[in-house]
Amino acid sequence: MQEIIRIKPVFKQMIWGGSRMRSEFGYDIPGDDTGECWAVSAHPNGDCEINGGEFAGKKLSWLWENRQDIFGDAARTVSERQKAAGLETDAFPVFPLLTKIIDAKSDLSIQVHPEDSYAMEHENGSLGKTECWYVLDCDPGTTIIIGHNAKTHEELKDMIETGRWGEFLREVPVHKGDFFQIDPGTLHAIKGGTMILETQQNSDITYRVYDYGRLQNGKPRQLHIKQSIDVIKVPFEGSGAKDKGEPLASPDGTAGGCTPLVSCKYYNVWRLDTDGKDSYIHNKPFLICSVIGGEGRIVRTGEESGEIIRKGDHFILPADFGGFTLEGKMQLICSSI
Ligand code: ZN
Repeated sequence: MQEIIRIKPVFKQMIWGGSRMRSEFGYDIPGDDTGECWAVSAHPNGDCEINGGEFAGKKLSWLWENRQDIFGDAARTVSERQKAAGLETDAFPVFPLLTKIIDAKSDLSIQVHPEDSYAMEHENGSLGKTECWYVLDCDPGTTIIIGHNAKTHEELKDMIETGRWGEFLREVPVHKGDFFQIDPGTLHAIKGGTMILETQQNSDITYRVYDYGRLQNGKPRQLHIKQSIDVIKVPFEGSGAKDKGEPLASPDGTAGGCTPLVSCKYYNVWRLDTDGKDSYIHNKPFLICSVIGGEGRIVRTGEESGEIIRKGDHFILPADFGGFTLEGKMQLICSSI
């Protein structure tokens, strides 16, 4: 039986990044402009190492490709899903999910992501990007951008080309604990003062529509106006899946401390809140877990000692891990396909 697989994050410095990954999560970050923590990633732009245990030092992509037993029938499920969507390829599917923490000290660019079919055709066979955000913290009065006010494709093009951003962008208030699903084609931006945990498809394709005229090393970052106009959905009709899905099952049939956040065709995401003890049945092909607050122990059903887990830890529960109990006072965000 496999132990929990601890993952070592990869950090990314960004012009909009900050230092809260150090001050709040205790990470050893590369600088005070650290914007992203790729907490569980098998993407070539930030392939995480396994932290300790039998596979110490191996990359997550290696584990996915070489030890399919750890991920149950996930690879087959992903292949079948791609076939059903008309996206047949001979290549072994990539690990389907990516978990990030984002610390936005200042505003992220206004951006949009493509669907699988567009990315497959225009981005060298990449997956598209559906993503969702759990708001870990934000300054009072903070807003985010989700959607736009253009009514037709013509109007969208015109508003972007003439830079009528105030009129174009749809700004909404954001609070700690909020959750947002961002489907492909949804214009969006996290604004300064916000820290989120993001669960997304394993893709790094972002089309930047507007970057506030900022410079990086003396030059503006690349914009992708044509691609953005191609993929932004018009009119804006809400920010994505409303289906929260089912809580993770617990042996006594109650929801325990589990709150389902979203269920869409790419992922299911849950928040687990333990104050004392909560037991769960693990029947997913794998479960990605991020401790976002507190500390405690995870104990495999039938065992006694378990392992200490604390805020900032990220790990995967393998397919055959079996049921587990969380003990202590802590909050986790978990995801699976
Ligand atoms: Zn995004």
